Amino acid sequence: VPAVLPALAAAVGPSNVLTEPADLTPFLTDWRGRYTGAALAVVRPGSTTETAAVVRIAREHGVCVVPQGGNTGMCAGATPMAAPREAIVVRLDRMSRIRGISPLGDSISVDAGCVLANVQAAAEAADRLFPLSLGAEGSCQVGGNVSTNAGGTAALRYGTMRDLTLGLEAVLPDGRVLDLMTALRKDSAGYDIRHWFIGAEGTLAIVTGAVLKLFPRPRRRATALATCSSIESLLSLLSLAREKVGERLGAFEAMNREQIAIIAEHAPEVAIPFSLDAPWYALVEIADVAGDADPGAALEALLAEALEKGLLPDALLASSEAQAKAFWRIRHSVSEASKAAGYVVSHDSVVPLSGQGRSAKAAEEAIRRARPDARIAIHGHVGDGNLHVLAIVPRLADRERQFAEADAIHAVVDRATMECGGSISAEHGIGHANVKRLARAAPPLEIEMMRALKRMLDPDDLFNPGKLFTV
Ligand SMILES: Cc1cc2nc3c(=O)[nH]c(=O)nc-3n(C[C@H](O)[C@H](O)[C@H](O)COP(=O)(O)OP(=O)(O)OC[C@H]3O[C@@H](n4cnc5c(N)ncnc54)[C@H](O)[C@@H]3O)c2cc1C
Repeated sequence: VPAVLPALAAAVGPSNVLTEPADLTPFLTDWRGRYTGAALAVVRPGSTTETAAVVRIAREHGVCVVPQGGNTGMCAGATPMAAPREAIVVRLDRMSRIRGISPLGDSISVDAGCVLANVQAAAEAADRLFPLSLGAEGSCQVGGNVSTNAGGTAALRYGTMRDLTLGLEAVLPDGRVLDLMTALRKDSAGYDIRHWFIGAEGTLAIVTGAVLKLFPRPRRRATALATCSSIESLLSLLSLAREKVGERLGAFEAMNREQIAIIAEHAPEVAIPFSLDAPWYALVEIADVAGDADPGAALEALLAEALEKGLLPDALLASSEAQAKAFWRIRHSVSEASKAAGYVVSHDSVVPLSGQGRSAKAAEEAIRRARPDARIAIHGHVGDGNLHVLAIVPRLADRERQFAEADAIHAVVDRATMECGGSISAEHGIGHANVKRLARAAPPLEIEMMRALKRMLDPDDLFNPGKLFTV
């Protein structure tokens, strides 16, 4: 038995140190099922103090630490890929306490192991909104959301996790606890260190707590599904919506024809109330905080004007909450349906909105040239300039060949993204899967500064090695 295990068992209790292969299995493979790593144990601390003890023990034994939340990440960031070094996976699922909530301060303080949906529910119970919303909200955790700088469908109005995080608590690689759990709305006292850890993907610390922003809860919503004949008209519809309803625009999501067809094929339980032949589909939502506002009328007027301007051939305004939910169900089923359709080479590109049409077309053309057999499904947060372009290709038994083929597709799509002034990851992160792509795309000085920060906090590269970049 490796000497580290009894020490860990003494720190968190033997039942919270999983070592049986069958117990470890679910935590060693990423959500996409592409990478399987190895770990001596999965360790489940019950508090920040226990987490710090676990880190100190790991460090004493020279064992790597891989923080894991709900393991729903898209790029194998939480998969232990430390070999030939030894690693433990640290899961925070026992740390799921809502520490406090302040309706006046519009903030909620939580353990990092809280499942996102439970934070949303706690906010709602206090008549507030925690706006982060994504398909995996029933299982992803706040620590994972912070560490990937998650975006989701409400980022258009409320921003990403970086905008929603007021304070945080983290265990550093040397075992010290950094307590930045403040709910301050303004703080100009030097460097804003919390941002080092947001989007750091577990390479700099284990996030153990966070103070998050809350908002007034929208009382009334109106949702519509519109068809558009081109990406240009989709973007014109977005621009018109912003002009007409401003901040009331709660979501503006897009899906192309292929994406809808894939949902129809692989998620037949999801009702699609349109013919499947429109080039683009937009999910538009207006959400109003004021109880006497009429989002339905505003959305109807917006769609009427768009129809008149020839921006959309057709639109369906949800007539009930159930129908609005059904529209969202279409949007939220894209990941599972696409996964079922073949091997998904996905992109999380983001560009300035002015370049969105150009970059989506350039990416599509580049894929078509490189892989004429690929199905090209596009969906995403078009209002943020963040369309997920998926090239879905046949699965191959030869894993290395599959990865090489995927990388050839990434290379051409990433080039199109960079030419439009974009970034290769808007919200999913880099993890293990995209290390090579970041090295190609990011300015060398930026990578050098990331490495400098990593060396300062984690000189022995114990925290989540092999993620983001190789040190
Ligand atoms: C169906 C589906 C839909 C999705 N939709 C979206 C979407 O719209 N927008 C979006 O942004 N993402 C989306 N995702 C991706 C994923 O849900 C997010 O990246 C989420 O934030 C990951 O949270 P997690 O708790 O599962 O983290 P994990 O997958 O467990 O980990 C992700 C990364 O964070 C690190 N980490 C986790 N917890 C901690 C911690 N406490 N301290 C330090 N590091 C930590 C891990 O080491 C890893 O690098 C989707 C995923 C699925 C399956």
